[in-house]
Amino acid sequence: MRRNALLSALAVATSLSCIGGAAAKPLAFTGIRLIDGLSAEPVADAVLVVDGDRIVAAGPRMAVAVPSDAEIRERPGHTIMPGLISDHSHVGIVRGVDIGAWNYTRENILAQLEAYTARGVTTIMALGLNGAIMPEIRNEAHAGLIPDADLFGVDRGIGVPDGGPPQAMVRVSPDQLFRPANADEGRDAVRAMKARGTDMVKLWLDDFGGSVPAKMQPSVYAAVIDEAHRLGLRVAAHVHDLEDARAVVRAGADVLAHGVRDKPVDPDFVALLKAHDTWYIATLALDEATFAYADAPAWAQTPFVRTALAPDLKARFDDPAWQRDTRASAKAQAARDSLATNLANLKRL
Ligand SMILES: [Zn+2]
Repeated sequence: MRRNALLSALAVATSLSCIGGAAAKPLAFTGIRLIDGLSAEPVADAVLVVDGDRIVAAGPRMAVAVPSDAEIRERPGHTIMPGLISDHSHVGIVRGVDIGAWNYTRENILAQLEAYTARGVTTIMALGLNGAIMPEIRNEAHAGLIPDADLFGVDRGIGVPDGGPPQAMVRVSPDQLFRPANADEGRDAVRAMKARGTDMVKLWLDDFGGSVPAKMQPSVYAAVIDEAHRLGLRVAAHVHDLEDARAVVRAGADVLAHGVRDKPVDPDFVALLKAHDTWYIATLALDEATFAYADAPAWAQTPFVRTALAPDLKARFDDPAWQRDTRASAKAQAARDSLATNLANLKRL
């Protein structure tokens, strides 16, 4: 239902952008469901009035005075809501079922921004693994030269030699990721990112379930965080485990880019995040996506999802053998456990 409502919102949003600026008369969308970000529940039978390129009134039908010269567009069954912000995405990494540096192209990134926009996501934070064309696309997006979602980004981000993020997983080219061997190289990496106009710094502190031999050394992440703060940049840390999250927040990281997924958070950790005002991005969908398509729930069959899938990805998700093998895999079970822990921790936090 929610996803269908979103699709309806897009239809309305599209007509808004089509008339933006050109309309001489105010426009009133009536009979809509309004999610205004203020009310606990969506406002049923609402009215939203647009004058030029501005929303000038929105609320329950009885509470909104529609200008007498307004053009009325009755839109029952449609929803209007603020644009969604994704604070932890990546762009240009995948194309269908394929992952690799060759997907980091302008064409693929623009297609992804379009796909986000078509589903109500109007701002994207690409949190690392970005190649050399990132600044150019971001600047065009900021300037409104790209009609789709606005784009912010961490430049390359800072990983670990032979460590996280595993190259076998991300398959990026050397110009998409720093892997400093020591604190000085970590500082150099931050300065290089700053010089290219990065919006933030990202670092990886995780051994990916023991699949890589080493996590980032405390001396390296301490130097990275210190250098970033010296240059006025905030730092987002990829973490999985509670003790890593605790350590990196103590070292000054501003954002935890994933939820804690190995064990329950404790009161000391809650107090630490409060004391540091740490931003927490749970990324629930990350683990859910590992098994959800194999479970084939009803939402995965909606046009909202199906129209977003490349043909090869759709074929994989529809393959009964793939579904069966995925459901039975250790990876899927680990992801289910991880999601359950993440959910419980998010609620506690
Ligand atoms: Zn990430």
